[in-house]
Amino acid sequence: MTKPVIEVKDLAKSFGDNVVLKDITEKVEPGQVIVVIGPSGGGKSTFLRCLNLLETPTSGQVAFEGQDLTTLDTKSVNALREKMGMVFQGFNLFPNMTVLENIKLAPMKVKHTDDATATKTAHELLQRVGLDDHADAFPSSLSGGQAQRVAIARALAMNPEVMLFDEPTSALDPEMVGEVLNVMQELAKDGMTMVVVTHEMGFAKSVADRIWFMADGYIQENNTPDEFFANPQTERAQDFLSKIL
Ligand code: ADP
Ligand code: MG
Repeated sequence: MTKPVIEVKDLAKSFGDNVVLKDITEKVEPGQVIVVIGPSGGGKSTFLRCLNLLETPTSGQVAFEGQDLTTLDTKSVNALREKMGMVFQGFNLFPNMTVLENIKLAPMKVKHTDDATATKTAHELLQRVGLDDHADAFPSSLSGGQAQRVAIARALAMNPEVMLFDEPTSALDPEMVGEVLNVMQELAKDGMTMVVVTHEMGFAKSVADRIWFMADGYIQENNTPDEFFANPQTERAQDFLSKIL
């Protein structure tokens, strides 16, 4: 039996009196693509941020490859966090650095990768996201779709075990959504373990192994995409799907 990449037990999170996550117990197995969908305000971003301890859970456990992050010191958490790549809605590229420098930065600073190796890897990753011809460009000259593909390449440069995506296409013009989803689909095909919060139902249907439907701080339904979209089990999910499909 392989260990789950991520295992969450009785996870809860409150901000003051606002209970945002309640009793979440779920696993992400190696190579799985989990798509988290649900209404705005339901706790999806908070959940994703709890997985790499960008938010501190109020109670419960978050284990990464068998190690409970909530019991570790900051240094150990940072070391494990390097194995979790994260891509947000905004691209967060460093504006004063070229695309290549953006990708090389973390491997060189954090992992002390030498310049030649970091450069070679960065070019390989840029090829993978179809942007090696933009290696020397600055972020301000890129389209949103290109910037997001660079952000994905930058996360991959740390050679993560899992990639977390929080609405990676929500800020993009519609014509740029496809190029980013294609890169993500390729990643999934290559076996990357992924947890993706998205409203792109086509992607969810064709790429997800499991759909986690999240609303009101719970994962209300954990199902295959075929089952979830054809036959949602909860009223909450039926209601959500009736509004978006
Ligand atoms: P989603 O991503 O599903 O839209 P969020 O996780 O962003 O949901 O938000 C869930 C709830 O948590 C919302 O009520 C939001 O106001 C609250 N929340 C999120 N982050 C914070 C924070 N840093 N401080 C206080 N409340 C927060
Ligand atoms: Mg969100």
